[in-house]
Amino acid sequence: MKYFFLLLCCALTSCSQNKRLAEVNQYSDDPHSFSKPSEVQVKHLDLNLQVDFDKKLLTGKASWTIANLSGADSIIFDTRGLEIERVSLSDSTENAEYVLGPEDKLLGKALKIKINKDTDRVTVWYSTSPDAAAVQWLNPQQTAGKKHPFLFTQSQAILARTWLPCQDSPGIRFTYNATVSVPKDLLAIMSAENPLKKNEAGIYQFIQPKAIPSYLMALAVGDLEFKAIDDRTGVYAEPVSLKAAAWEFADMGKMVNSAEKLYGPYQWGRYDVVVLPPSFPFGGMENPMLTFVTPTVIAGDRSLVSLIAHELAHSWSGNLVTNATWDDFWLNEGFTVYFERRIVEDVYGEEESKMQEVLGHEALKETMADLGHSHEDTRLHLELAGRDPDEGMTDIAYEKGYFFLRALEDAVGRERMDAFLKEYFAKHAFQSLTTEQFVTYLDQHLLNGDEALRAKISVEEWIYKPGIPAGMPVAVSNQFSLIDSVVIAWKKEVRSEGLKSHLKSANEQLYLIKRLPQSLSVSDMTKIDQEFGFTQSGNAELNAAWFLHAIRNQYQVANPAIEEFLIRVGRRKFIIPLYTEMAGTDEGKRWAKKVYKQARPNYHSVSYNTIDDLLEN
Ligand SMILES: [Zn+2]
Repeated sequence: MKYFFLLLCCALTSCSQNKRLAEVNQYSDDPHSFSKPSEVQVKHLDLNLQVDFDKKLLTGKASWTIANLSGADSIIFDTRGLEIERVSLSDSTENAEYVLGPEDKLLGKALKIKINKDTDRVTVWYSTSPDAAAVQWLNPQQTAGKKHPFLFTQSQAILARTWLPCQDSPGIRFTYNATVSVPKDLLAIMSAENPLKKNEAGIYQFIQPKAIPSYLMALAVGDLEFKAIDDRTGVYAEPVSLKAAAWEFADMGKMVNSAEKLYGPYQWGRYDVVVLPPSFPFGGMENPMLTFVTPTVIAGDRSLVSLIAHELAHSWSGNLVTNATWDDFWLNEGFTVYFERRIVEDVYGEEESKMQEVLGHEALKETMADLGHSHEDTRLHLELAGRDPDEGMTDIAYEKGYFFLRALEDAVGRERMDAFLKEYFAKHAFQSLTTEQFVTYLDQHLLNGDEALRAKISVEEWIYKPGIPAGMPVAVSNQFSLIDSVVIAWKKEVRSEGLKSHLKSANEQLYLIKRLPQSLSVSDMTKIDQEFGFTQSGNAELNAAWFLHAIRNQYQVANPAIEEFLIRVGRRKFIIPLYTEMAGTDEGKRWAKKVYKQARPNYHSVSYNTIDDLLEN
């Protein structure tokens, strides 16, 4: 996924929650799942769902093929907010016994179903609740086309259980088939082999023949059409956005070829992308075979397509080799950012990947400053028991993870690094890994007992200690260094005319915005805006970075654009910093609350839960 924004948490709350969870969760090594996979494990899912837009409900049955490894007398699923109608075992039509455990606000309820040692299948008839946290129901006004409703799911990290009774841990994998019924004028697509067009009946079949963890279960339903990019890549989008989306993502095929050249064959068949409405809370979500993306990457100039490289890279790091628990999240994201920048380097050149590396370094520095260098959440390996795993989804996993791999590359050379990674993906394909297992593998296959090398890289410090280790690789971009000198000159004269001729690309302009002084006069802001047109830019990255300055420096000309942006866009990476900045003053907070009242219905739960807290809504 890309990107989550930092969430600060209260240490006291975490502590008391820890204790509570220690009592309720004796089931597995994953502190965020009730299931006991060492006893009974799911292997395959046959899912049958009806989508009801009027009632905002998914109703149907989940039939799980299971392996009873220990002869256990029950199987445990994770559920949250599900209405369980009945349960049956194997081919029997009789109702089976089950019990729902006490409710945990974060984890939901354990669904414990009585089985015997020969039970090979368990079927659960159920429906979701209208406010299921994974599912966002959009009315026609909230879509690009404004004519039809839309729904999409976001299961990562532990929200699959809000629309599917499942063993909701990234360490447990299963294959699935699904049948989904939707209103006739809409198309359903999933993280699976997908239909290319609508059918008369509105009933769609899906097959995912590769074993995936529950957080990669995904469904989108809307007025969607498909356009091929090449033989194995393509784009789904609402008809009004399809042409622009296909143009923006024209390099997808090249990216898949480049990724394969780096780290081995793409294992999932097709690679398609669906462009969601602007309320999608993330940049992208790497649902297998079908990446979900925000429309805010459609800038009209292909300047933000590194996001596709990121989600595609997850087809190896994350979807093929998966973090075993959310404490190991950096294994998904650090590797993916490294892989992403290698694809970008291959497809768009070294200078482009260097610029992104510098921007990543800037983001890491900001996160370190926010959290503090000794904060335990600045370790790569996290301890999230008792807390929402979303709290671990900061730039630490992404960028500290990236720079750790860069440090490894610098120490052993690119050739050895690439051979190591290629073998790592091949050996652990369709498996999950803990941080400890990775460290052992690293010792055996890259460091090879070379103590000098081990000391040079300081693996322990990178992974288990807070802060940034000394000797972190330096990120340098020649183009950005040029901008630094332009900014220094500008600070002396504050003359903005002609600046744009030096700073043409979106990357360069974004870097400029990030390099501007925190305090700027309205007159300076006006001059910069006249030169670059940031307030009215169609590039959401530039908008969001510029609006932070506008709010801070009371550049009120931008207020209508800020309000429009916050009401239209639900991407956390953009809106949480903006609301945070607004909430910095009393007057700003009143403004934020006023805008939020109008914007909140457009946000997914993972966005509005954070902002509710932020604004004490
Ligand atoms: Zn990611």
